[in-house]
Amino acid sequence: MKLPDLDFSYLTKLLRETRQNILILTHRNPDGDAIGASLGLSNLLVRLGHTVNVIVPNAIPKFLKWMKGAGGICIYNFDRKRGDELLKNATLVFALDFNDLSRVREFDEKLKGRDYFKVLIDHHPDPTDFADLTISLTEASSTAELVYDFIHEVGLQEFIDVDSASCLYAGIMTDTGCFSFNSSRPGTYLTVAKLLEFGIDKDKIFDFVYNNFSADRMRLMGYCLDKKMVCLEEYRTAYISLSQEELRQYNFRIGDSEGFVNLPLSIESIRFSALIMENKDCIKLSFRSKGSFPANRVASEHFAGGGHLNAAGGECYDSLDNTIQKFVNLLPNYRDALLSE
Ligand code: 5GP
Ligand code: MN
Repeated sequence: MKLPDLDFSYLTKLLRETRQNILILTHRNPDGDAIGASLGLSNLLVRLGHTVNVIVPNAIPKFLKWMKGAGGICIYNFDRKRGDELLKNATLVFALDFNDLSRVREFDEKLKGRDYFKVLIDHHPDPTDFADLTISLTEASSTAELVYDFIHEVGLQEFIDVDSASCLYAGIMTDTGCFSFNSSRPGTYLTVAKLLEFGIDKDKIFDFVYNNFSADRMRLMGYCLDKKMVCLEEYRTAYISLSQEELRQYNFRIGDSEGFVNLPLSIESIRFSALIMENKDCIKLSFRSKGSFPANRVASEHFAGGGHLNAAGGECYDSLDNTIQKFVNLLPNYRDALLSE
């Protein structure tokens, strides 16, 4: 897609004519787009001869670890020493798939006051103004799609290979729910067509991402649907909550709850769905909606979060029970929006 009219000349020069120490940052609880966009770009920049590292605040789910370069990603919570070194030495920083530094607050302080060029590539609404170059388009299916366009903008398409293309495809596939939302622009499919020309195996990528779970995870999903899904028909809303104890019973691993929040939306009447999960340090909320109901408004107005119209999330520093109560109690405020078509 057409990128905003920005002056790319300085960055193009940096990338094509110099050797940089590049650090790619992506957000906490990284998803397929965060990791796909980051590794799609990093594999290409490595081929170009730059020193490139990817850093993320916390662990990467298993279903994304097949991507080339995934093993080398610095997980800041696990390896602060290496992370601090990378943050100190970077000369060029790409921030991918997030719109505000609070999404990397584990290490954003370490970047303050340092002199380097910073580029934001993202598709979330309302980016804060922290980068030297902000490429932010909410119409894009995914950050991965924007990274593909960015690569063309700076004239580096000859360096795309099957590994980069596979990562970018995975980003587009996951952020569109396998082309079921955020994917009505013809340009997205033109990008996918180009990625296929690099020889990616899209069926294998689907398998890696969606058919790679443990039996425990499938049983947890069954438990959620049978015992934990609460449907509030009067608000066309459903939610699933999970405590640490319940997660322990099913040997929960990061990534196991992927997709759970979407399940209640398969019910004909449901327009808004929440997954409310007890983490070690806070309660994490994920929201999904259908149609015009703004899941991101609920996230930003009540749970210090944000996101897209139909996919958003936030956090709460209270008990699980109180968080559920807070969620249920706020629904009357959105009644009209929930019940309108
Ligand atoms: P998920 O439910 O898959 O964790 O997140 C869906 C989307 O919601 C993400 O792509 C991101 O845009 C947004 N999101 C999730 N959690 C947070 C959060 O804590 N803060 C903000 N600002 N956005 C979030
Ligand atoms: Mn994304």
